[in-house]
Amino acid sequence: MTDQNQDHQDHKAKMQATKAEVDARVAQAREKRGTIIVLTGNGKGKSSSGFGTVLRSVGYGLKTGVAQFVKGKWPCGERELLTKLGVPFHVMATGFTWVTQDRDLDIAAAETVWAGCKEFLQDPSIHLVLLDELTYMLTYGYLDTQEVLRYLQERPVEQTVIITGRNCPQEVIDIADTVSEIKAVKHAFEAGVKARRGVDW
Ligand code: ATP
Ligand code: MG
Repeated sequence: MTDQNQDHQDHKAKMQATKAEVDARVAQAREKRGTIIVLTGNGKGKSSSGFGTVLRSVGYGLKTGVAQFVKGKWPCGERELLTKLGVPFHVMATGFTWVTQDRDLDIAAAETVWAGCKEFLQDPSIHLVLLDELTYMLTYGYLDTQEVLRYLQERPVEQTVIITGRNCPQEVIDIADTVSEIKAVKHAFEAGVKARRGVDW
């Protein structure tokens, strides 16, 4: 056998073993249910990943709801597209905390968005819910963490919820099924590069 043939055989044997391993692990996953996915950490990619998953859901024609607990009156490319497609949005958009400087106003706005979220979380026809930047509402104490945990846990069994934001509270991580922490290795903003429309928002 030539060296090349031997390499080919070795590769094939290795791939067969890998396939058997992967097949066995896939066969082990039998539970069919929605999950709680947390995307946290200081790196870029949390909200955009959440919206990427929203696209997957919407792409299959599945009912999807989005809540944005963003304090800025930010435009957002994803919202432009998804509202055109009929995806319901609840957006806080009260202006930045350090601009409004009004905690009561922020809390009232958070509660209004949360009321919309509660409807999503009780509706079994909704396949996926994105709660973008929810973590800040919990760390600032704008929403009651125990109530949020209860609604998350009592949601319809087939429903998946994605939660994004830095410093996710441990209690949320504890009840989540999938948690990814996105690490900032570097960010262009730190080198003085301006955030870009259609890339950063
Ligand atoms: P994206 O929406 O791009 O996925 P993100 O949700 O991970 O980002 P946020 O903490 O919500 O990040 O930040 C919101 C804005 O700040 C976005 O415009 C994002 O591109 C930018 N950003 C994210 N991470 C960093 C960082 N480490 N330094 C500076 N700007 C950042
Ligand atoms: Mg974000």
